[in-house]
Amino acid sequence: MKTQVLIVGGGISGLATAWWLAQKGVAVEVWEAASRPGGKIRSRREAGYLTEDAAALLVNFRPQVDQLVSTLELDQDKQRRDDKLNRYIVHNNHLTQVPMLMPALMASPLWSLTAKLRLLAEPFIPKGSHTGETVSEFIRRRLGQEILDTAMDAFVSGTLASDPDLAEAQSVLPRLTALEQRYGSLTVGMFINKVIKRRQVNTADTFSFSDGMGQLVQALADSPGITIRTGIKATAISRQDDAWQVEGATSNGSASIQVPQLVLSTPAYISSRLLESTDAKLGKLLAGIEYAPVGVLHLGINSRNIQHKLDGTGFLVAKHNRLAINGNLWMSTLFPHRAPSGKALLTCYIGGVHHPGQLQQTDQELTDQVLGDLRPLMKIHGDPDHVKVKRHYQGLPLYHGQYRARLAQISSRLEAMPGLQLNANYIHGVSVRERIYQGQRMAQAIAVSLRGSARSGYPQQLLTPSH
Ligand SMILES: Cc1cc2nc3c(=O)[nH]c(=O)nc-3n(C[C@H](O)[C@H](O)[C@H](O)COP(=O)(O)OP(=O)(O)OC[C@H]3O[C@@H](n4cnc5c(N)ncnc54)[C@H](O)[C@@H]3O)c2cc1C
Repeated sequence: MKTQVLIVGGGISGLATAWWLAQKGVAVEVWEAASRPGGKIRSRREAGYLTEDAAALLVNFRPQVDQLVSTLELDQDKQRRDDKLNRYIVHNNHLTQVPMLMPALMASPLWSLTAKLRLLAEPFIPKGSHTGETVSEFIRRRLGQEILDTAMDAFVSGTLASDPDLAEAQSVLPRLTALEQRYGSLTVGMFINKVIKRRQVNTADTFSFSDGMGQLVQALADSPGITIRTGIKATAISRQDDAWQVEGATSNGSASIQVPQLVLSTPAYISSRLLESTDAKLGKLLAGIEYAPVGVLHLGINSRNIQHKLDGTGFLVAKHNRLAINGNLWMSTLFPHRAPSGKALLTCYIGGVHHPGQLQQTDQELTDQVLGDLRPLMKIHGDPDHVKVKRHYQGLPLYHGQYRARLAQISSRLEAMPGLQLNANYIHGVSVRERIYQGQRMAQAIAVSLRGSARSGYPQQLLTPSH
């Protein structure tokens, strides 16, 4: 069957979109520049440790993700996080438990009495407009400065490598901002959803797989119905009558294809280069999307040398703590068989907007710096027996500035280019969950358009929030 859809980029965004298309019987081909599919996601086994280059876990509340995992027959390989594990945050140079329920929150030493009273007043704060509001402005307005400085800053810095003063609230916190729009209050909205509507959306299933997240991307790549061509780099794109012409380079020559539907699942700066000769304005809009450098430092340490109880998922760090790490996952506590017996695997996240030059340092310098932070916090003595560093110089897209306005402009440029779609982690969320979900939405729109030769409705979906 002739290829109907070409997807450029075989990371989770491209693979998931290809998988959903193949489920619908669409003939789909993926071009991936690297020698292996998966993009940033890669699991490695070395010296008895199982480490992750990028995504370490999937936090899920979407049925589409469950469907994909089940159809791939990965259910039996799922490793679930124990919900009873503690979550920690650095507070006054100590690891302090993050309260998960209201009574514990009220008793927590993390916030002053004023902050707690401010939190209780949240339902009475008038609804705002959101337009262009940053995360800091939104959280300060709804929950107060202290919650922003401790919890939200740690979340945005630690999990998104971003800065709450610059990140757009509606793009980064779509579910929270939607609660305010719908119910006028976050706490009221959560209460209604959870207690009255008995929705499960607030209880996420957090998991990985026995061979790590790499198992997921490999299973997608091995799925029937998808043709994956690795080692082929798209170099040029042009419109030829009703089709898209794509040129590619391989180690021993060149390739070329014409397809009615083309999806670019490459980072924004690559898509910008590929599109600048077709639409210079679109190229410029994409080039304006900033990326943060992000690094992962894995430390394998004898468990006896860590005095702090490894009874949690790890911890996050807000920027005012001035530490070299943004967050730390206790992988060997989270999931079984991540470290040899008697050893612990600590995965530390570094870089991000708060430490832009950090990745330039040597492995030894990074290890010394990170251990300098970890030793007093976790009471670690002795040295690690395993160190592994992974640097992503353009690691995560930053949803900074007037991001939705930028997406609106991108969307209107795409309207004039039927059959061309963009789907990667700079649109509607960086998480693996959202990449799978967006892949499904896009595949649906493309399948409809192929059936009726109508335009795909996806460009409009760029503007639809994905909460
Ligand atoms: C350190 C780190 C930790 C993370 N942790 C988590 C986590 O715990 N949970 C979670 O849900 N998410 C996490 N994420 C986010 C998630 O891993 C990423 O957002 C996601 O993997 C990105 O997928 P993607 O397909 O959009 O992009 P990529 O993975 O970047 O894929 C793009 C692909 O395009 C290919 N390509 C580029 N140019 C061309 C070309 N010209 N021709 C052909 N192919 C090309 C690249 O080789 C690459 O394979 C993390 C990210 C990082 C960096």
